[in-house]
Amino acid sequence: MTDTPINVLLFGAGGRMGRHLFRIISGEGHRCLEVEARQDPDVRGALDEHLLKASMVIDFSSPEGTTLLLERLLVRPVPCVIGTTGLTAAHHEALDVLAERVPLICASNFSVGLNLLLSLTAQAAGALAPESFDVEIVEAHHRHKKDAPSGSAQVLVASVETGRASSAGRASSAGRARKPDPVLFHGPGMTDGRPTGSIGVAAVRGGDVVGEHTVFFLGDGERIELSHRATDRVIFANGAWRAAMWLLGQQPGRYTMKNVLGL
Ligand code: NAD
Repeated sequence: MTDTPINVLLFGAGGRMGRHLFRIISGEGHRCLEVEARQDPDVRGALDEHLLKASMVIDFSSPEGTTLLLERLLVRPVPCVIGTTGLTAAHHEALDVLAERVPLICASNFSVGLNLLLSLTAQAAGALAPESFDVEIVEAHHRHKKDAPSGSAQVLVASVETGRASSAGRASSAGRARKPDPVLFHGPGMTDGRPTGSIGVAAVRGGDVVGEHTVFFLGDGERIELSHRATDRVIFANGAWRAAMWLLGQQPGRYTMKNVLGL
């Protein structure tokens, strides 16, 4: 945290997330250096100019926008919070290189509740045998969302795998090592039958749904549902700003919301 006003480069400043962040950041007395591609045709030039003055970069744009931003950040590294979803392996490789020089966080969901859901999911997956409990993840988002399944659904898959791996680690010492499980992405119409131990993911798109994720652990005679429902996207902006403030005191490296929230 800092009481001294800082310059924050806000990339995607005119977008839905960008407007929330602008209100939060300027409301706390910090200065936003806004970059909005729909108003400024020379995005590269605007980035280079603002990166000279910025102490922090916050990105909620698009994968194409993040490609451009990372290219400029690798020339002029500044601590950054990356919230754009749908990123590729190439983005993550660039982020790894950048993290050798500055602290950064890239997260598909900055809400406190969703990050708690990740921890609870890993805990449940470690406790429930995959032979007895099928895992299905269902996510719903508004009609404008471009990527599917959501980045958060993919991180939830990783949480299930992490939880299972930790319990398989305990089991393997007793001679019951398990292989990694396949992940099924269901389209409309669903599939018939499912391999034991697989993790299904389904995406629903429509209306103004801000973001909902449910992890089902479906057994015979009982089931567990862990759900998170976002009703206002300001929670993502609040979380991203909290992450930005936390990053200011950190060494170069790649951090997660788990680090920020102490989960
Ligand atoms: P939006 O469509 O309202 O805004 C997108 C912004 O990005 C606009 O300012 C647009 O001009 C800019 N942009 C798009 N393409 C660009 C390019 N090629 N170069 C430069 N700028 C470009 O979208 P939004 O709802 O604000 O979401 C933005 C991103 O953040 C999406 O990827 C979304 O999935 C993600 N998101 C992440 C979280 C999270 O917690 N990590 C939460 C909500 C949204």
